Amino acid sequence: MGDVRQRANRTPVVRRTVPEGKDSPLQGVGQATLDKLGKLGIDSAFDLVLHLPLRYEDETHLYPIAHAPLDQTVLVQGTIMRAEVQQRPRKTLICRVGDPSGDLSVRFLHFYGSQVKALSPGKKLRLLGEIRRGFFGAEMIHPRYRIVEDETPLAEALTPVYPTTAGLSQDALRRLILRGLAAEDLSETVPESVLRALGFASFAESIALLHQPPPEAPRRELCDRSHPAWRRIKFDELLAQQLSMRLHHERRRSRQAPVLAGSGRLTGPLLAALPFALTGAQRKALEDISRDLGQPHPMQRLLQGDVGSGKTVVAALASAQAMENGFQAAFMAPTEILAEQHFRKLAGWFGPLGVNPAWLSASLTKKEKEAALRQVADGTAQLAVGTHALFQDQVAFRRLGLVVVDEQHRFGVEQRLALRNKGLQPHQLMMSATPIPRTLAMSYYADLDVSVIDQLPPGRTPVVTKLVADTRRDEVVARIRRACEAGAQAYWVCPLIEPIPSLPPPGKAESDFATRSRRGRAKGEDAEAAQLQTALETHRSLSETFPDLRVGLVHGRLPAREKAEVMAAFQNGEIQLLVATTVIEVGVDVTNASLMVIEHAERMGLSQLHQLRGRVGRGAARSVCILLYQNPISDTARARLKIIYENSDGFEIARQDLRLRGPGELLGARQSGVPMLRFADLQQDTDLLEAARQAAQQILRCAPEMAERHLQRWFNRRQDYLKA
Ligand code: ADP
Ligand code: MG
Repeated sequence: MGDVRQRANRTPVVRRTVPEGKDSPLQGVGQATLDKLGKLGIDSAFDLVLHLPLRYEDETHLYPIAHAPLDQTVLVQGTIMRAEVQQRPRKTLICRVGDPSGDLSVRFLHFYGSQVKALSPGKKLRLLGEIRRGFFGAEMIHPRYRIVEDETPLAEALTPVYPTTAGLSQDALRRLILRGLAAEDLSETVPESVLRALGFASFAESIALLHQPPPEAPRRELCDRSHPAWRRIKFDELLAQQLSMRLHHERRRSRQAPVLAGSGRLTGPLLAALPFALTGAQRKALEDISRDLGQPHPMQRLLQGDVGSGKTVVAALASAQAMENGFQAAFMAPTEILAEQHFRKLAGWFGPLGVNPAWLSASLTKKEKEAALRQVADGTAQLAVGTHALFQDQVAFRRLGLVVVDEQHRFGVEQRLALRNKGLQPHQLMMSATPIPRTLAMSYYADLDVSVIDQLPPGRTPVVTKLVADTRRDEVVARIRRACEAGAQAYWVCPLIEPIPSLPPPGKAESDFATRSRRGRAKGEDAEAAQLQTALETHRSLSETFPDLRVGLVHGRLPAREKAEVMAAFQNGEIQLLVATTVIEVGVDVTNASLMVIEHAERMGLSQLHQLRGRVGRGAARSVCILLYQNPISDTARARLKIIYENSDGFEIARQDLRLRGPGELLGARQSGVPMLRFADLQQDTDLLEAARQAAQQILRCAPEMAERHLQRWFNRRQDYLKA
């Protein structure tokens, strides 16, 4: 599993640009073989060095035939006593081979005439394979064999078995790798002092040990990658990542951004007009941001806070600070619904202060859009709100000072880098309610500064979570009726709107998570998905059940304008019950909604459930979230629901989610522009991550030339990324 993930993530982002030198071990290798190597992620001599074995075979030790253990790979040697081709039941070449301790039969079902000739009585045969007790005694089927002389030496090292691909034999791969090992510069790139403190052997020794372990090396630790040599390689990989992230960080400090010192001209009145006081955690985050904005280099700060912790108002205050300085601010959200909601909220806050935000949305008419773009371009709009339409080249700002990216995890690192490269150097504030577990924050997000809002606004009553089997739907329906009659509002969340015949092309349907998350799944799951109760049906049946209530419907395929209308109607209480797909997952803030039903909760990701649940419990009223599940339910699904039932802290949930699913999925395919880890495992190797983090700091301070060489070694063909 681990290997599959690494391979998948290792598609070379940048192809080799510098041809390998004359004495490269890849010199003279045919194109067909190069292509096969390419499939394995091997594009350079150094990739050969880092192509590490999956396991090993032991050809250093001969067993006497009679005493060799059964059913495991062993090496034996003996003289051919008899060799014959049997015709029935199928054509088989059978050799009887014996040593002083005993003998066995060797059977070949596929063989050439030349083999029959070569394997003649009297020859000495060395065999590697498993001995089984067959009907006619001990036998080996299709062993690897070699004709030897008495004095042919045994292997001195364990024989590596490499991950390979069809048409590329282990022997061919081994030969290439040996050439790579001999040709490549394996000199040390980590200072002696760091190695000593961590108790690591040199890079060259560690690499040599992994490719050619001595006979007594512990094979189990080599295979489960806990051996010190493996840890050294993982450390180096993590170190490269840490160094590159720190360099990003430093490079940022060398770039110019507008100094946006706070004057209080806008922030003061905005704070005074808010119906609440900021929490301590919000104030502290705002201080961090305010300080960064006053610096002459671009801020890149991640504002992390659990659902409902009040990130929006902090970002609004940051935008106000930019505007105080005569600069524009851009506010971006991943979905129309969320962008629209931000727009309303910001317009409500800033309107009375004389600032009118521009609204950039897919739902605008051509004319409206042109007008909005003009305002952004000539600077009349000091604040612009929209979806990633804002990313588009056509949006030109007059003086962009700050970009706020809400729900950053939806955009991914690639976009984060893309925006940075646009030639603009605005400050950036990224917000995420999907808490990034510490290990991920330390690795993939290490180039960002982070502020955390670790406190919810006062007066919230925690959401009560209930797990209810689908068979008890009636009770749930009764509960909704009671709640709505008492003036509350409710969500009914369905996992998807209808069976989707084909997967949308990348880049489409961004606004519907239900659709997006399905991309890339196996076809068989579509049939399964078709069984899910659709939101359309649910809406119909709930409308019938509650003729006296207004039941609304919102999903990702609704035109933007209709979506906005439904959300507005729910916001101001005209709709009491809102049937929705997971489009409402992020950010939606309707304080009066205090009941949520989530169907097929057993099929959803933990963080997603947590996000959804965060849509209720936003007011003072006691809120309830009902997770409907369908029996029979698998053990993993049960374990997941238990986590969400027992925890209300998003950080803890994300941590457990990471444990269950692995970081690849959490990061998402969108982050594919980032060099992923091939060797290190963020869950198992946290100690190495910490060590690499500290070492990176030390090396950049004391031995920057080594840092340079280390990065060269690990990212030689990913320079583009490093320069971003
Ligand atoms: P999130 O961090 O999930 O984006 P929001 O910014 O949407 O959270 O805030 C959730 C709700 O809490 C909003 O209705 C917001 O106006 C309100 N809120 C934010 N800060 C405070 C506060 N300090 N006291 C009371 N309510 C607050
Ligand atoms: Mg939010």
